[in-house]
Amino acid sequence: MNSDSNERAADVIVVGAGNAAACAALSAREHGASVLMLEAAPRELRGGNSTFTGGMLRFAYNGPDDLRQVVPEMVEMDLSNVEFDTYTEGQFFDDMGRLTQYRCHPDLTEVMIKRSFDTARWMCQQGVRLQLTLGSHAFNVGGKFKFWGGLPCQIWGGGPGLVEALHKRLEQQGIPVLYETPAIDLLHDDRGVTGVRARRDGRTVELHARAVVLACGGFESNAEMRARYLGPNWDLAHVRGTAFNTGRGIQMALDIGAMPMGHWSGCHATEWDMNAPPFGDLSVGDSFQKHNYTFGIYLNARGERFLDEGADFHTYTYAKYGREVLNQPGQFAWQVFDQKVTHLLREDYRIRRMTKVQADTFEELVTKLEGVDAGRALATINAYNAAPRPDVPFDPNVRDGLATRGLPIEKSNWATRLDKPPYHAYGVSCGITFTFGGLKVDTEAAVQDTAGKRIPGLFGAGELVGGLYYHNYASGSGLMSGAVFGRIGGRSAALHAASLR
Ligand SMILES: Cc1cc2nc3c(=O)[nH]c(=O)nc-3n(C[C@H](O)[C@H](O)[C@H](O)COP(=O)(O)OP(=O)(O)OC[C@H]3O[C@@H](n4cnc5c(N)ncnc54)[C@H](O)[C@@H]3O)c2cc1C
Repeated sequence: MNSDSNERAADVIVVGAGNAAACAALSAREHGASVLMLEAAPRELRGGNSTFTGGMLRFAYNGPDDLRQVVPEMVEMDLSNVEFDTYTEGQFFDDMGRLTQYRCHPDLTEVMIKRSFDTARWMCQQGVRLQLTLGSHAFNVGGKFKFWGGLPCQIWGGGPGLVEALHKRLEQQGIPVLYETPAIDLLHDDRGVTGVRARRDGRTVELHARAVVLACGGFESNAEMRARYLGPNWDLAHVRGTAFNTGRGIQMALDIGAMPMGHWSGCHATEWDMNAPPFGDLSVGDSFQKHNYTFGIYLNARGERFLDEGADFHTYTYAKYGREVLNQPGQFAWQVFDQKVTHLLREDYRIRRMTKVQADTFEELVTKLEGVDAGRALATINAYNAAPRPDVPFDPNVRDGLATRGLPIEKSNWATRLDKPPYHAYGVSCGITFTFGGLKVDTEAAVQDTAGKRIPGLFGAGELVGGLYYHNYASGSGLMSGAVFGRIGGRSAALHAASLR
């Protein structure tokens, strides 16, 4: 490693070692650049939030023929009882528009969507393996699986599998990663960005390069920035993933005049076990999440429901409902289910480390819901059960229209009565996933300054890109946006470096 000298460490320095960074590094290498990666975490904690994911990957596809290109095992599978449907670019656009209240940046969104399938294929070429999400994103109803929510694929081995595959490829490509080496500043002069200042072995070092790709996450792990930008009580949220995404990458770019973009007071936050540790724990991964509220009801400390649990498939609501839980008294809530839906609950509801109570009657159950007004809770459950519903069958594979009528807050789908004991309930609070505010990049992943011009030599990818998400999020698109813009940013950085040779 070159330090404290003007000798170049590499053509391209990539800051971070998660999905976006690895894709950027591999793409820069593919386009002829020498690459050095800097990772703030030690090797055993490498890969940031990407390691914590369940590996859901959203991309546009036009039917099973497309899926076979990324899941070759499908050829040998008996899929006669599976209905695949499509998830076209148009459907992906509709989801992004609807979920972000039509604020998502049109050009960046278009790039993410139009490049999504090709990028999924490219990830497979890098050694990432995909599998079908039968059972979790397609339920067996009447002997038939039907995919819903645009997510038929997930990465083998989840986040750890993804990061292992990408890092194996980085090693094959001879791309070094300097662990425990956080970048702290950008080196910058009239030519643009010329490298980074980093901390290594207790010293500050300067690492020179022709281009830098920032792919080092948002500010979700920084309680001070959360409170400053997201608002009161966000400093109290659990962090679902890495402790290393402290917003430094965003800050160092702002310090040299980068333009902020996106929903700076917004974030992705979900329902997360109320007794989970303050940061993610890789031995549990994402299993502290509790996303099957669509099949039950929520109760807060006042014993009241406070949102429409059946507004949509959880993949379209879970990322905004963490905020709803944070806004409840005491920042917690309980999810209540009966036995009829137990088989639909994900593995996350069967782990050892979770906050669960169970009882044969609601009278008993409500006394076990710690912190909850038991009398009001019982009245709420009874009112929910008594509410009239249309005579339609419960079907978890579609928005079934089984809705309550006449409650202060209706449940719009899957409002089956809670009537089969024993009843079970799960205590959750808010877990932040990542922040939505970030840097303005163009469609080549070049970081823009406040005058709308490119900062020469600076590129950005992943969570720290602003402008894609506002208010809400479509599950599986975080990894995809990181891969798409990482791949583009790596290429752009390599081309920029080549232009300076
Ligand atoms: C529990 C959980 C489950 C999720 N599940 C999914 C899912 O199934 N599908 C999906 O699409 N998305 C999922 N997400 C979101 C997804 O993780 C992110 O959108 C995506 O991983 C972000 O990738 P990234 O490369 O930008 O950031 P990260 O993967 O977080 O990588 C950032 C890297 O930068 C490093 N770093 C930070 N600061 C510095 C610095 N100053 N210098 C050097 N290195 C630094 C970090 O250590 C880390 O390695 C999930 C997130 C969590 C937390």
